[in-house]
Amino acid sequence: MSQIPKSVAALFPPHEERERVRANLLGALDAAHARMARGPVTPDFDLDTFRSELAAFTFAEPHALEDALAWTIAQLEHGLVHITHPRYFGLFNPGPTFPAQCGDIVTAEFNPQLATFTTSPAAVEIEAHVIRAVGRRAGFEQPIGHFATGGAEANFTAVLCSLTQAHSGFASEGARAFTGQPTFYVSRESHLAWIKIAHQAGIGRSGVRLVPTDGTGRMDAGELAAMIEADRASCAVPFMIAATAGTTNAGMIDPIGPCRDLARKHGLWFHVDAAWGGGAIASDKLRPLLAGMESADSITIDAHKWFATTMGCAMFLCAHPEVPFSVFNVSTGFMPSTIPHIDPYVTTVQWSRRFFGLRLFLSLAAAGWQGYAVHVERAVGLIDLLKKALAEKGWTIANDSSLGVLCLDPPAGGPTASAIAKAVLASGNAWIAAAMFEGREVIRACVTHGESTEADIRALAQALNTAASA
Ligand SMILES: *Cc1c(COP(=O)(O)O)cnc(C)c1O
Repeated sequence: MSQIPKSVAALFPPHEERERVRANLLGALDAAHARMARGPVTPDFDLDTFRSELAAFTFAEPHALEDALAWTIAQLEHGLVHITHPRYFGLFNPGPTFPAQCGDIVTAEFNPQLATFTTSPAAVEIEAHVIRAVGRRAGFEQPIGHFATGGAEANFTAVLCSLTQAHSGFASEGARAFTGQPTFYVSRESHLAWIKIAHQAGIGRSGVRLVPTDGTGRMDAGELAAMIEADRASCAVPFMIAATAGTTNAGMIDPIGPCRDLARKHGLWFHVDAAWGGGAIASDKLRPLLAGMESADSITIDAHKWFATTMGCAMFLCAHPEVPFSVFNVSTGFMPSTIPHIDPYVTTVQWSRRFFGLRLFLSLAAAGWQGYAVHVERAVGLIDLLKKALAEKGWTIANDSSLGVLCLDPPAGGPTASAIAKAVLASGNAWIAAAMFEGREVIRACVTHGESTEADIRALAQALNTAASA
């Protein structure tokens, strides 16, 4: 073989060069990590300058990799809302665990292809092991399932499984196999990726029934029963109920038992979307909040929410080993194998597959369930502290949730929730959101970072009070 040309060596540098660049890179990231925790939560760069610098990358000439890396780190350090900041009290984007970050490095190095067991037996089995452990912890006796890119993909998987179970003709004919509009039921406070999912699944957006809530953010089971009856009477075809266990906005848990009973009565698939709230299974104290989840047909739990792995890591757990294969099976000559129920490409949405599960494997290995129990209980404790601090100052707690998220009505007569959120963000001291809860605007704060402290909570309370009395 002739020598590797210089231009190609930019992509595949020699060993010593890799070693040097990587050591410098890790050092630079550690330094940035330390600076970020002390700096503002919100972006503090000049967008126009950034854009013109970015435009200079025309790719006509190569740049030195180390320069490009240094530039990128600087832009990310100043051009993001830092969800890795202990005073990010925002959406369920966690400060990622260090073991998960290590997992990403390892995955990038081996770049295993998890489409088949044959090519990556070690990686496929590590994922299956974690899925079984999490599934059992969630209450399934013999769980199967897989890692997905996010809760939206896992919920999409639930819809495809339930449609395929509901009608044997769905596999070949799609939605027209049904005698009427296939419909599924989620609460109006559910995560509305369901709308896109219905579109993607080919049943159409009108297949989603948004069930009214009961005034406290939970699905109204009486309304659910009535809607199913009405749909049946009008020749629609109900096929799934999905209860949310920890709504995204407010951490509310739908009545799991009554939803399951209605699903059983009507022969519907019962799914529990615990994308965020599912983290509570780690704690013996909090797990009872999710009681009934074990009787579901399938469950979504995101690893990249309360389990705090890096982004793009969720789990679809299923109680019926045969169903995912019935949905995703296909055989082609060019794949190294087709092992029913085992090869991920015949049991999941994806084909080429990244080694997502390593992040949760390493995190669970390093902390144990016990470590995660403390992690989730701490978040709940910090939110309780915030509740007390604000209740004293005239704020009203809007959501009666025992999970680590708080929705607040600001003190009467002061600025609106969105004005307060805007002022807090502008201060750079903390990140919170304004959100809609039961039809009105509230302030929403969530503890998502394992390193948030009581001092961070006091700083948030102060920032909120200052904004509310402006
Ligand atoms: C976040 C969330 C989702 C969507 O999950 P992604 O990981 O963002 O795809 C679905 N359901 C609930 C309840 C969620 O909180």
